[in-house]
Amino acid sequence: MSPNSILWQTILKDLEKLYNEETYNELFLPVTSTFKDQNGLLTMVVANEFLKNRINKLYIAKINELATKHSNTPVRLKFIAQDEVVEEPTTDRKLTIDYRQGNLNSTYTFDSFVVGRSNMFAFRMAMKVADQPGAVANPFYIFGDVGLGKTHLMQAIGNYILDNDVEKRILYVKADNFIEDFVSLLSRNKNKTEEFNAKYKDIDVILVDDIQIMANASKTQMEFFKLFDYLYLNNKQIVITSDKPASQLTNIMPRLTTRFEAGLSVDIQVPDLEHRVSILKRKTLTLDADIEVSEDILTFIASQFSANIREMEGALIRLISYAQTFNLDITMHVVEDALGAVLKTKKKSNELNENNYDKIQSIVSDYFQVTLQDLIGKKRHTKYTLPRHIAMYLIKLKYNIPYKTIGSLFSDRDHSTVLAACEKVERDMKMDSNLKFAVDSIVKKLDSTLTK
Ligand code: ADP
Ligand code: MG
Repeated sequence: MSPNSILWQTILKDLEKLYNEETYNELFLPVTSTFKDQNGLLTMVVANEFLKNRINKLYIAKINELATKHSNTPVRLKFIAQDEVVEEPTTDRKLTIDYRQGNLNSTYTFDSFVVGRSNMFAFRMAMKVADQPGAVANPFYIFGDVGLGKTHLMQAIGNYILDNDVEKRILYVKADNFIEDFVSLLSRNKNKTEEFNAKYKDIDVILVDDIQIMANASKTQMEFFKLFDYLYLNNKQIVITSDKPASQLTNIMPRLTTRFEAGLSVDIQVPDLEHRVSILKRKTLTLDADIEVSEDILTFIASQFSANIREMEGALIRLISYAQTFNLDITMHVVEDALGAVLKTKKKSNELNENNYDKIQSIVSDYFQVTLQDLIGKKRHTKYTLPRHIAMYLIKLKYNIPYKTIGSLFSDRDHSTVLAACEKVERDMKMDSNLKFAVDSIVKKLDSTLTK
């Protein structure tokens, strides 16, 4: 038996205890499954629409709770009626982007989203939101640096909701388009107002991408605020993405940011190397079945692009189309030819050398707005000691050089001072989420400059 069918058998045992015999026999026992495991989303098949609706309305929450309890990874079950089962398309998906109703990119699904430590929580919560729009977390606020999957995850919510109910009206809008729409509304043309309302109010789910772009557009913000309240009060799901936490948005009116903070915020971090390799593997599958890229080469590419998945995918796509054009097997040599120039400049700055210790010090001092001199020097105000300790900790973390050597980079401090500082940062990070956020942001900056 496959792990998924074992899981379903285990869930069945619980359901048998929880519900009466009639319900159990009529609803749960006859369920079959495609056991097509899409990233923890299992598709279960029931005989007809009626049974499907009953399960989805009354029992789905319990079933998913049991599923998660019995498997240590996030699992959701999705119930569909027999006549909704579709054969897998046999043709491979090409690069063409396929937009579906509500202008969603249909390739941005939960299924194609590779889950790892950096996005696990965001992913789990996104699935919950998609399961019960308007009920779990409203608004649902996703933040993280550029190229890390915010738009993908946001649209996956929309695609999932549509997959379960094609009637649902999902509106995906980039914040800049919202501004444009609003500005044209200002022409005070009555038709425009109706158009605007029809577009934005007559919907079930709104996905607003890159909200930080609304900074300074105060009239637009006011209009968005009204829309937000209208949708919120009508229990419509609102999903927002941003490059920073709501509390750090600048030039966005507090009445908006406080509303964002009142919902659920999740962040997406930079994926680690192994995770990046999985993303690349996944990507090769969707690109072209004919071409093989070895694990070594995928690992090489992943190691070169640490801070931006979009750039990393771009390199892979470039490599594959280069190899196809010249009909070559992909070897390291071909990689060099296809990605040559970009990689050469990266290589230089990637080498571990003392400059990188400097770099850590300079990024930390920049982040905390203290001078390099103060960072390295002996002043004891916390304004300086905190950044100093963080810089020591990061040098230890990244290069694992002796504490004594680190001390020499900070006005000759001794081994025990550095050791104490590193341990303190490590300990405090566990309890202080602001500190953790600061350290994570610095690491992100660092990783992106070291690979640039
Ligand atoms: P953002 O909106 O945060 O700038 P995107 O959502 O546009 O980033 O993601 C950039 C690219 O990386 C997209 O092609 C997206 O599909 C891909 N991507 C990001 N995260 C993942 C992931 N976890 N699994 C698979 N692909 C991903
Ligand atoms: Mg985006």
